[in-house]
Amino acid sequence: MKRLVAGILTAALLTSAAGAVSYDPEAAGTSAPTATAVSETVSESVMAASLTAYPATMTVMLDGKQVKPVGYNINGNNYYKLRDIALILNGTTAQFGVTWDKSTRSMNLTPGSSYEAVGGELGAIPTKNATAQTCNETVLINGIKASLTAYNVDGYNYFKLVDLGDALGFDVGYESQTRTVVITTPTVEQPTPETPEETPEEPETPAEPEPTPSVSAIDGKLKIWIDPGHGGADSGNVATSAIPFDDYWGVHHDGNTKIYEKDFTLAVSLMLRDKLEAAGVEVRMTREDDSTVDATTRKQLFSTEGGGYDMIFSVHQNGYSTSTPKGAELLIQVAYENGGAGQEFGDLLKQEYTSLGQDWRRFVFQRSSSDPSKDYYFVLRAAQEGGALAFISEFCFMSNADDQLWLLYTENLDKQATAQYNAIMKYFETHPY
Ligand SMILES: [Zn+2]
Repeated sequence: MKRLVAGILTAALLTSAAGAVSYDPEAAGTSAPTATAVSETVSESVMAASLTAYPATMTVMLDGKQVKPVGYNINGNNYYKLRDIALILNGTTAQFGVTWDKSTRSMNLTPGSSYEAVGGELGAIPTKNATAQTCNETVLINGIKASLTAYNVDGYNYFKLVDLGDALGFDVGYESQTRTVVITTPTVEQPTPETPEETPEEPETPAEPEPTPSVSAIDGKLKIWIDPGHGGADSGNVATSAIPFDDYWGVHHDGNTKIYEKDFTLAVSLMLRDKLEAAGVEVRMTREDDSTVDATTRKQLFSTEGGGYDMIFSVHQNGYSTSTPKGAELLIQVAYENGGAGQEFGDLLKQEYTSLGQDWRRFVFQRSSSDPSKDYYFVLRAAQEGGALAFISEFCFMSNADDQLWLLYTENLDKQATAQYNAIMKYFETHPY
């Protein structure tokens, strides 16, 4: 029994290490694992165990269209038949081929190749529980051993969908309200817009009046702590601007081609503060100017004083080493991975961000590798220790030319802050504070 438990623990650690990862290393206070977490660890190291596999009944959407891969829920995670996933991804930017080498009992996945169906794919959705055996075959990606959690059910291999996504470059999200698994393949990179006029136009509706929250009910009671990411000596993400740009403070950085995350996080945070205060909310700010607040100070503040606030909202903008990733992410405390307050607020913020026309990437729940019961991101971890609900918003990627247009215009920064304001007010309409 002991060995079995150890095996399951190992699997849990492996899968959390390969799980969702934010691209903003500064938000973590330590360097984040790379997105394609294909390590040398092999599935054979996980000892054989047989588990109950429950038919996966969630709706699965691929790039906006419903698909029906055969899947099981094993140990609380969704596993889908490898060849079903390969077939539905055929023709997308995330397509991959599957070949089987009998002599070495290894499966080779070739990202970018089209998948050749062998028959039997996309069969009937199972209705009965089955038994899952640990998959002992070696999995290679382009010939290199990959660490992917897999089980064998009735002779077919089922892979953990988020692992496949991380290894093969597609996103896997989950919408708890509709019980929908959302698979998103990367878009083909768009050419850099030459003029700001090419910004996706916002609908030309007249400015809507701010929603009138019940000020009397909120006044002096609701307490929000806004944390503008980075500051001072810590610039956060730095990117090259697609257009000549004076930052929010009228400062030119490096001949006004460089833009700093710390400036945008502060600008949005100040706008959010003003909106909340106008509605009678008591607001605390980690910083209100370009001062440096190091990670140690933030940890100390959130863990000792966070409990006095109804929410800590940390404002960041994302960045990555390539220009491909774009869209909004919300980092949520792992305590809400299976729903609850964190996910409920996340759904509201997602609704607000997407209604602006911004792409949605995903919710991120990232566990500490040294203590999987805790959050990986220090802001979320320290807030949890202090008893506070906390979020890290990554509205857009500074490293993507389209996405950074969300930052280069004051009115777009205001839209971001308004979306955050709306989500916070809506959330506390139905939650105690
Ligand atoms: Zn950041």
